Amino acid sequence: MKKLVDAIKNLLIGLGITAKHFPRKHITLQYPDERWPMPERSRGVVVLLSDKETGELNCTACLLCMRSCPTAAIRIEFEKDEKGKRSLKQFHVDNTLCCYCGLCEEACPTLAIQLTPDFEYCTGDILKLVAEKEDLLVDHGGKNRQYNFYRYAGITTALGGKGTHVDESQPVKIRSNLP
Ligand code: SF4
Ligand code: SF4
Repeated sequence: MKKLVDAIKNLLIGLGITAKHFPRKHITLQYPDERWPMPERSRGVVVLLSDKETGELNCTACLLCMRSCPTAAIRIEFEKDEKGKRSLKQFHVDNTLCCYCGLCEEACPTLAIQLTPDFEYCTGDILKLVAEKEDLLVDHGGKNRQYNFYRYAGITTALGGKGTHVDESQPVKIRSNLP
């Protein structure tokens, strides 16, 4: 008898909670028909950015992202021209290994590699989750559309000499600081 009373009591408690929440605004979304707007800085799928004006890839093949990746999800191949300047040959990101830690974008000096809010790329075909360079290119500017390493870099480029780039001071003459 006691068990029956407890069961009815628990049932009524449950119904009471349901009745209390019924008139409230629903917070469950009917995905995929409805979606939360993802925060701009959320870390989803990895992309590679190119310069907004020239279309040139921002990546300088410095390998810092590859070396900072804790899961070895990035693999880069590059070649050098006669002056020793590197250019990107291949760039692979294995999305089955990526844990969205963001260390690659933290390490990148040119903001070329970025994590975007896009998270909808699941598939049953595991090979499709290995993104090649062509798959990583996007037509938007990522988190900072205006940034181009070569305009801020403190190096001589076709766009200007040292100290003439955007917000840049003249280089410090180290010897002048010596006692
Ligand atoms: S987000 Fe983390 S795990 Fe994914 S590619 Fe970048 S460094 Fe590697
Ligand atoms: S850290 Fe940036 S510039 Fe260096 S290889 Fe990676 S994406 Fe390219």
